Amino acid sequence: MSEHAEHPGEHTDCSETLHRVYEYLDGEMTPDDTHKIAKHLDECAPCLQQYNLDQALKALVKRSCACEEAPVALRTQIMARITTIRLQASD
Ligand SMILES: [Zn+2]
Repeated sequence: MSEHAEHPGEHTDCSETLHRVYEYLDGEMTPDDTHKIAKHLDECAPCLQQYNLDQALKALVKRSCACEEAPVALRTQIMARITTIRLQASD
């Protein structure tokens, strides 16, 4: 089974957190990874901001497409928008 040892000095960096924020939102992570991301978001305001943004967009998609999956075009549009926002955020 998995070890319980802590790894001091090992931390989740921002790019990993931002890269995996969707898995986190979708609850697709292992409890271990979920904990890592949650901890990083707790300590890192820019990543938390990005997480809140992704969460809001996800909720928006869900709300506007309650019965169906988001149309591919809309999803592409939203992903493009997120990419733009991310590029602006990292500037
Ligand atoms: Zn961060």
